[in-house]
Amino acid sequence: MSLVDVTDLTVEFGPLRAVAGLSFRLERGAALALVGESGSGKSTVANALLGLHRDTGARVGGSVQAAGTDVQRASDAELRRLRGGKAAMVFQDPLSSLDPYYAIGDQIAEVYRVHARVSRRAARARAVEVLDRVGIPDARRRARSRPHEFSGGMRQRALIAMALACAPDLLIADEPTTALDVTVQAQILDLLHTLRAETGMGLLLVTHDVGVAAESVDEVLVMRHGEAVEHGPVGTVLGTPAQEYTRELLAAVP
Ligand code: ADP
Ligand code: MG
Repeated sequence: MSLVDVTDLTVEFGPLRAVAGLSFRLERGAALALVGESGSGKSTVANALLGLHRDTGARVGGSVQAAGTDVQRASDAELRRLRGGKAAMVFQDPLSSLDPYYAIGDQIAEVYRVHARVSRRAARARAVEVLDRVGIPDARRRARSRPHEFSGGMRQRALIAMALACAPDLLIADEPTTALDVTVQAQILDLLHTLRAETGMGLLLVTHDVGVAAESVDEVLVMRHGEAVEHGPVGTVLGTPAQEYTRELLAAVP
């Protein structure tokens, strides 16, 4: 079974069709980028993989399998297990996912403790381990920092550490470098690359930046108005695009 299997996915917000009949697969350990202009439906797809449209009023059609879960049919408990374990998501703005009043290490430990049902002590040790793994220097001490005491790049690392804590099979990263300056962007992409190689987790990278996709993934799916324009190996799609729209996107990269 593929790690992700999306078939004929449609997501409607009232009269707006944000995703219109999209199908794609992601194999275990592989990396796929969804690229396209802002508003093309990328985040809507990413959210659908974790069942985040449930009970929001959005209408979702088609089928979505993610990390062994039939997302459309899953119970609420199954969805919680998917989100807190086999799949993890990081967003553009780490501050939106972190509580400003609690130490970063404690927040990671809490996520892990609930998932793995281990003692607080074991969970704290896991938090330090993953913070160290994502390159936070002096992780044992820095685990006690609150989010505002970290730079933007360090916060994104911390969020990736939180995602890693439960050893997910699938990491969904929605514009993970968009809020960062260029050197830090490269470091985070490098980190994702290393972690993929080490853990064998699959990556679904959402980005409006074709350059970011080019450096990070095996396959690219170009989206426009909720539909797939072009899909294939990164070298083919970005090297010799078949579609005029993809050429326009590429031309917009500085
Ligand atoms: P992207 O991530 O490619 O920028 P999105 O998936 O966020 O695009 O959005 C696709 C379209 O769906 C946009 O027109 C956006 O305004 C709309 N949209 C996204 N989320 C919602 C929502 N919760 N309610 C209503 N419209 C939404
Ligand atoms: Mg988005």
